[in-house]
Amino acid sequence: MCGIVGYVGSKQAAPWLLEGLQTLEYRGYDSAGVSVVSPSGNLHGVKCAGRVAHLVERAKVANLNGTCGIGHTRWATHGAPTDRNAHPHYDCSGRIAVVHNGIIENYQVLKRQLMLDGHAFASDTDSEVIAHLIEEAWNGPAKGDLASAVRNACDRLEGSWALAVVCADVPGELVVTRCGSPLVVASTDDGAYAASDVMPLASVTSHVLQLEDFDIATLGSDGSISIIDRDGRTVDHPTAIDIDWDASAAKLGGYSDFMAKEISEQPEAIERLLAGRLGEHGIEMDELTLTRAELAAVDRVFIIACGTSYHVGLIAKTVIEKWARIPVSCEYASEFNYSDVLVTNHTMCVIITQSGETADTLTAARRMRGMGCNVFAITNVLGSTAAREADGALYIQAGPEVAVASTKAYTAQMVAAFLLALRLALAHERMSIEEVQRHYEDLCQVPGLMRQVLKRRWQDKQAARLFNGKTSALFLGRNVNSTSAYEGALKLKEISYLHAEAYPAGEMKHGPIALLEPGFPVVAIVPADHVHDKTVSNIQECLARGAVVVGVATDGDERVAKMCQAVLWVPPCPDELIVPVVAALHLQLLARYVARDRGYDVDKPRNLAKSVTVE
Ligand code: GLU
Repeated sequence: MCGIVGYVGSKQAAPWLLEGLQTLEYRGYDSAGVSVVSPSGNLHGVKCAGRVAHLVERAKVANLNGTCGIGHTRWATHGAPTDRNAHPHYDCSGRIAVVHNGIIENYQVLKRQLMLDGHAFASDTDSEVIAHLIEEAWNGPAKGDLASAVRNACDRLEGSWALAVVCADVPGELVVTRCGSPLVVASTDDGAYAASDVMPLASVTSHVLQLEDFDIATLGSDGSISIIDRDGRTVDHPTAIDIDWDASAAKLGGYSDFMAKEISEQPEAIERLLAGRLGEHGIEMDELTLTRAELAAVDRVFIIACGTSYHVGLIAKTVIEKWARIPVSCEYASEFNYSDVLVTNHTMCVIITQSGETADTLTAARRMRGMGCNVFAITNVLGSTAAREADGALYIQAGPEVAVASTKAYTAQMVAAFLLALRLALAHERMSIEEVQRHYEDLCQVPGLMRQVLKRRWQDKQAARLFNGKTSALFLGRNVNSTSAYEGALKLKEISYLHAEAYPAGEMKHGPIALLEPGFPVVAIVPADHVHDKTVSNIQECLARGAVVVGVATDGDERVAKMCQAVLWVPPCPDELIVPVVAALHLQLLARYVARDRGYDVDKPRNLAKSVTVE
């Protein structure tokens, strides 16, 4: 949540800061701002509610002259998304500016004290206390040393933060630090850069440094970066990451929106993920740090995730239990963190997070590691906190996912979970090498099946019209496709703001059926599988109450075609467990068309942000 950028160097700062904020906008978009220090020590900036495009317009007339500056795109936690609450925030003198990602949990106590000490506040945010704390240190114990002043201020903070700080009195210096929120820095010939994630840096370098919690980095206009840890010791060898995403990967490349682009990229993403995974001894997964004997001893698996990744976890549970015969619990991270948990000596924990920075999931992983569990991360972002803190990390290699509603990460994470299930099945001697090979070959058909669905997007476009004027929808499915229903409903809610419920189809009669009335839209995922006939009966129950049913069915299913107002056809899949991966594309396309029919920005749905870095 929230994007931070910072630059100090030989070029004008504002153009890159604004460009960086546009690249980071998927992290938060309720308001934005930049502050720049001119070489003569004049700190000035603009900030406003609304999108970065609005800030860019304002910046044009503000004449932001300076080669050192910071920028922010906000996802409000404390205080409404207004001009005054937009970052950067300033100290009383207006000579120190701060941008913050995270939550300062003790801000009320600090604010009260600071006000008693005479500080005047200009916003309702938790973040502003940081500017005043730095001011106190700057004028007191840190005596003009910005990095020490920041360190001193951070000693008084509780919560999570990534910070970028500039001060008019040191125009060639940018200080950044973090605790619990992501931040990377990079040195180049024309200066030094900081950002919440690697995406905006891909246009200036392919080599970035990852800060650890409490590291404080001082960036200089000659491109220098010096880092000290929380004890003031120099950090000589920070973790370096080579970015393999080129800057164009984060551009629209002819598509009207990132969601459309990312939906289309799914076949290639799955191909990349599967390439080279089948070896002589089964599934190659060096990322798993457990030996084969340790894997064979795993007697319980906890899968922990949030949102769409949680739905991947539900599918993974079914597949691991079926193939490896190991009991699996799938938990929402935010619930798991505050519940009792029973682990054995051989419990394995799998966390699933696209960004690798999801705060709730990271907390859960730390808790599991604290209890002695081996933690394995399935993630998309190289060098992310999840990947670095886990015992092993499997990168799904889907490339940057910019649209807030996850699409390609969802399907790639599912395939990654299938590979893990095969690895476990072999280690537990529940499958022969030949069976593993056969399942792997089935997975290799997924990209081709996805391409067929992509060619049928007109079906989704037509079906979307059935949602015109509706206020609610019900998604139904059985077995693995009850999860398809959850994910389909989530996608629709996220981007079209249409209320959608999802239920296992057989459970509908125990409550949600009361919602049905003539014209009520129902999406039923009813492929040719072992529960097909049961789901067909549930569709009949919907029709008997006048519902309008959109079926997601296997090619040639005349029975479903006759019953439904629209059918989203899925080509026959070699294994019914694979259907959710292929059918997902229809559900994504359907949600996108419904949202576009309503005139919404599908990439930046209201109230949401990609990469949820607050608890
Ligand atoms: N808590 C801060 C605010 O509400 C920062 C939020 C963010 O990370 O965007 O302004």
